[in-house]
Amino acid sequence: MKTILITGGTGFIGTNLCIRLLSEGNKIICVDNNYTGRIENIKHLLTHPLFSFIHHDICTPLHIEDPIDQIYNLACPASPPAYQGIHAIQTTKTCILGAINMLELAKKHQATLLQASTSEVYGDPEVHPQVETYRGNVNPIGVRACYDEGKRCAESLCFDYHRQEGVDIKVIRIFNTYGPYMDPNDGRVVSNFICQALLGKDITIYGDGSQTRSFCYIDDLIELIVRVMNSGKDFTGPINTGNPHEFTVKELAELILQKIKTTSQIIYTKLPADDPTKRKPDITLAKTRFRWEPKVPLLEGLDPTIEYFKSQIHLFKN
Ligand code: UDP
Repeated sequence: MKTILITGGTGFIGTNLCIRLLSEGNKIICVDNNYTGRIENIKHLLTHPLFSFIHHDICTPLHIEDPIDQIYNLACPASPPAYQGIHAIQTTKTCILGAINMLELAKKHQATLLQASTSEVYGDPEVHPQVETYRGNVNPIGVRACYDEGKRCAESLCFDYHRQEGVDIKVIRIFNTYGPYMDPNDGRVVSNFICQALLGKDITIYGDGSQTRSFCYIDDLIELIVRVMNSGKDFTGPINTGNPHEFTVKELAELILQKIKTTSQIIYTKLPADDPTKRKPDITLAKTRFRWEPKVPLLEGLDPTIEYFKSQIHLFKN
């Protein structure tokens, strides 16, 4: 049994990780300020004897005296509508101050820290598919920069703490992921399209829908994240974590319309600024080092996701 601290533990990936690691008999300390995470996600875990929840913003230091073996640093608003606009400065603070505070905690406890980085570090990529060695094409003054540059700086902090302080780190770059416990109101493409279809509302494609994303089912992602965390000290990453099967946004809309009987029509609206035109991970490193490949194709993973959103549809506001 390990003691594992998960920041962002009430968010989409955090909740799924809490459930998985708790089911394996670990002691879980879930930390979140519930800014974009949802306490409802972990309500069913609160009575578990090995689970505890700390309401805390990682922009301020977190003091824990009991030993900690591992820290998954997932906390950050992650959907473009959540991290842009009024939350932009908070997003940068969470990435940078949050990383410093969690790295300090990892140093104190000699714990391994896994940092959730993102495919956004590649910006609007000129290399396709994206390999870990690609340094990216980020607009440092654009509306997505708070997240992209925040995550890039968090990566650099991890490597400096590793080099200067000997902290055991793992950096993963998460590509688009979907599945149960996504927030119906996070404004992302999968949640928007499914909820719109369930409610018979217009399906809002931004731009002409030719931009691509590669969607990974949550269980596949969690499996790889856990393997990376438990890898030898020699492995720091960065490592791409995602499904390389690429779809246009229009194809995704059509797939969802095939699965949900609805009166919804597709409409085309303005493309947000700096929206990457394509995205697809090169997963050679995950395949060779971790013998990992995603098992759940989009067509299959959409079913449990749609079922989940049916149970949450009363919350959908868009
Ligand atoms: N998108 C869309 N309609 C929506 C929400 C998003 O067409 O209602 C597009 C968005 O412009 C982007 C892609 O879908 O090109 C993925 O967007 P998401 O916000 O899910 O994540 P991103 O990959 O941009 O971080």
